Formats: sequence, C-alpha cells, structure tokens
Amino acid sequence: MVKVKYSGVRESRSNRYNDLGTSGREIEEKFKKGCLKRADRSFAQGLQCQQINSMAALMSLEDSVFISHSPQGCVGCAIMAVDMYRVGQIHRGEKIIKNPRLIVTNIDQKSVVFGGENKLREAVKKAVERYNPRIAFIYASCASGIIGDDIDAIALDLQSEYPDTVMVPIHCEGFKSKICASGFDAAFISINKYILKKEKTEKQDNLVNLFAPTTISYADQKEMERMLSLLGAEVNYIPFYSSLEKIKRIPAATASTSICKVFADEFMKTLEEDYGIPYSHTVMPIGIRNTDKWYRGIAKVLGKEKEVEEIITKEHERIEPLVARIRERLHGKRVFICGGTGRSFAAAALIDDFGMELVGLETPTYDEDAQVDIEYLNNIHKNFVVDIANMQPFEQVNLINKLRPDAFIGVPEWAAKLGVPTTHVLDGKRPTMGYDGLLYLGNKIADQLENPGFNKKIAKHVKLPYKESWYKENAFKYITEGGN
Ligand code: SF4
Repeated sequence: MVKVKYSGVRESRSNRYNDLGTSGREIEEKFKKGCLKRADRSFAQGLQCQQINSMAALMSLEDSVFISHSPQGCVGCAIMAVDMYRVGQIHRGEKIIKNPRLIVTNIDQKSVVFGGENKLREAVKKAVERYNPRIAFIYASCASGIIGDDIDAIALDLQSEYPDTVMVPIHCEGFKSKICASGFDAAFISINKYILKKEKTEKQDNLVNLFAPTTISYADQKEMERMLSLLGAEVNYIPFYSSLEKIKRIPAATASTSICKVFADEFMKTLEEDYGIPYSHTVMPIGIRNTDKWYRGIAKVLGKEKEVEEIITKEHERIEPLVARIRERLHGKRVFICGGTGRSFAAAALIDDFGMELVGLETPTYDEDAQVDIEYLNNIHKNFVVDIANMQPFEQVNLINKLRPDAFIGVPEWAAKLGVPTTHVLDGKRPTMGYDGLLYLGNKIADQLENPGFNKKIAKHVKLPYKESWYKENAFKYITEGGN
C-alpha cells in the first residue's frame, strides 16, 4: 500500500476543530464521545492567513531572500515578524539592524488574466543577482494558486541557472487552510524536500534540535538552552536566527523538541520517519506545570529522567517562595485568556500557579492535545467559556463585556477599550518561559492589575465599533452547525 504523506493542511488530520463556542465541560465531554462537529461562521471578521506563518518562521534565516508571488496586500501582516526580527537583532547585540529581504511580485489583474510566471521569474532573478543569497524562498499565495502559476517549475529552472542559491518554493496558498499553523507545516515540508532531501548525515550524540518560532524572545532562547545544557545537550536552535548550516545539521541530531506545541510538531514526526530522530512533543514551557512537563518530556527522550528530577526539585525550592509572593497579589482574580493554541493553554496553566480563576478561553484550534489541557483545566476551574476562533474580535468583546474579568491575557486592543486590565504572555521582548519566565510574567500581570488607570482612560475616550445591541446577543450567534 502506498504510504500517504502529510499534505501540510492541518484540517486533514482527524479530530481538529476551528470554529466553536461552548464551555470547558461540554467540549471535554463531546470530544470524548466523538460527537464534536466541524462548524463554520456565517459572519467572520478577518482570519490570519497561513502564508504569514510560513514567512515569519523563516524570516530571520541568514543570507536569505523571501519572494512572495502575490498581490502586495498579502505581505502586510509580515510587519509583526519584521519587528520581532529587528528587536531580536538588538537583543543579540547587533549594531547594524537589518530588515529581511522581502520582495513581492505584485500579481495584478493583468497577471490574473495572462499569467504571472514571467513576473516571478524576473523577481527571483533580480533578487538573486542583487543580494547573492544562499537561499531563495518562493511563497505561493491564493492568487498564484488560483491562476495556476507553477512556482515549482520556475524554481527548478532557476536552480540550474543559479546553482549557488538553494531555491525553495513553499505552497502556503491562504485558501488551503483555515488553521494558520498550516503555514509552519508548508515551510517545513519544503525545507525537507529542497534542503535536507532525506540525505543521511553522521549523528552527533548530544545534539538536540530545538524548534522555535519568531515570537520567542532572546531571554527565552537562553533559558531553554540553559535548561537543555543542564541535561548535557548541545542545542541546534532553529529556524529562528539560524542559517543554512544549522538547517543542514537537523538530521545529525539525536533528539528534537519544540518550544511551541503547534510549531514543528508535524515536522518532528517527519524527522523521526525520514532520519530516525526521536522527539518530545508536549507543551509550551510557561508556568510551573508546563515547564516541568516540557523538561521531563525531552529528558525522557535523552534518557536523563533521574537527572531532570534532581534539577526540577532544586528549581522548585528556588522559585516556590517567590511564586507564593505573587500568589498573594493575584489569588482569586478572574481571567479571560486569548492566544495562539500553544500560548493560550500555557497561560491557562500559568494562572493556576497564582491561584487565579479562568472564566474564558479563546484559542484558534481544538484537537487531542487541547483535550489533555482542557481535562487538566476542568479539574481546577469551576466552569469557563471556550471560544474556538482564529481572530473574531466581535465574539471576544461580547464575551468580555458579559464576563467582566479582572484581567485579560492576550492581544490587548479590544479588551483595553472595555477598560479591562490587559497583559500578554506573547512577549518577544522579555522572559516568559522556564522557571524564571513565570516569575517575570506573574509580576507583570500583578503590576497591570494594580495599575489599571491607562485602560480605564482608554475606555472613557475610545468607543469600540459595535452597537449596544450586539453585547446583548449570544456571542456565538454566527457559528453554524457544531456551535450552540
Ligand atoms: S495568500 Fe490569500 S488568504 Fe493569504 S493574505 Fe494573500 S489573499 Fe489573503
């Protein structure tokens, strides 16, 4: 029988849901019984596209160019990743800050009618001749996919013309998936196909692939590397701030793990199949429970279970008195959390360290991994609303207005305008992970709660664009089929 390869579209895996409005108890039960249904929205407000995740994942690779075969608007979201890349350089001590070499072919009406292949060919040639890169990533878009421009054939043609630049076409057409994490998978599938090519390399005993997305701060990188070095590992930190050499070292590793549970999880499976590299796929190491779980996961793969328990005991002794102090400031406070799949569940575990109560959770997808976390959260919190949504701020403001939490953890734009104290665990500029990160985050949340003046003033002077009647409606009114 022919083995079916993973397509890179996250929806192709069973038991994955991305539009739902329910409660913690209900989603746990229905998932267990296998009666959750895939739903949709009859009205939606924006959706993060997978193309941006494919770009952001690779944007900090040395000596690369990024060619988006798309209309200009598609790369608008890249600004956040560009900002992270620039800040990351400053944190790493760079004196001259670079922008990524991001080029758009500008597919327009004419290209849609007559084809855009010539534009792409010209863009790649100019990019290679101007920058002399070691890698040229060529990104597909909805438009290039719909008109059928063959980015693979163009990459192949130009590869022979420019043998010193590795051409890597990436199929991240936005329409293929509503789950933006599919963009990470599309990028890794191409890295395997065009750079690693299933070639075997000599293994290095203590080498561990540590996969990290753009949003990881330098402080978090150092903390993760410190923790792994205590287990005797040498870390190959990829693909954020790495290089073609580091990518080529991937097959030499003895183990892999990822900082985020929806980043490189599918790729780590492929690495095990193609290169025999075992991996640990657990959680994002934010908060005591998650940090312990993440650490034990990779230690098990490395055969260092005894060593990790000794380290964890010492770390707990060091941080527990400090966590107790933060708990005094935060105990009993009600929280609404919104974030990507990895961070939202990590934040929900983190608030347990401080005795806070979860009242609402908004996250883009739900699957078997999320079910494990929900079972854990249902044991701690009485009940909470669950909104499975990629973006959709109109649902968020409706829920926050009804629940009136003491704190909101997530992108602050909308909750701040309702006067709720806000903070975020997605902080690419400060520590958030490991044993020290949770202390920093706890103090940050407490400081925000004790100083709510800024958001209160914003709420007084800024109005959200929704009518009063919307706040009285069922927040999940526009979810069809599987929703309530
Ligand atoms: S690739 Fe498609 S979904 Fe993504 S930004 Fe472009 S048009 Fe929008």
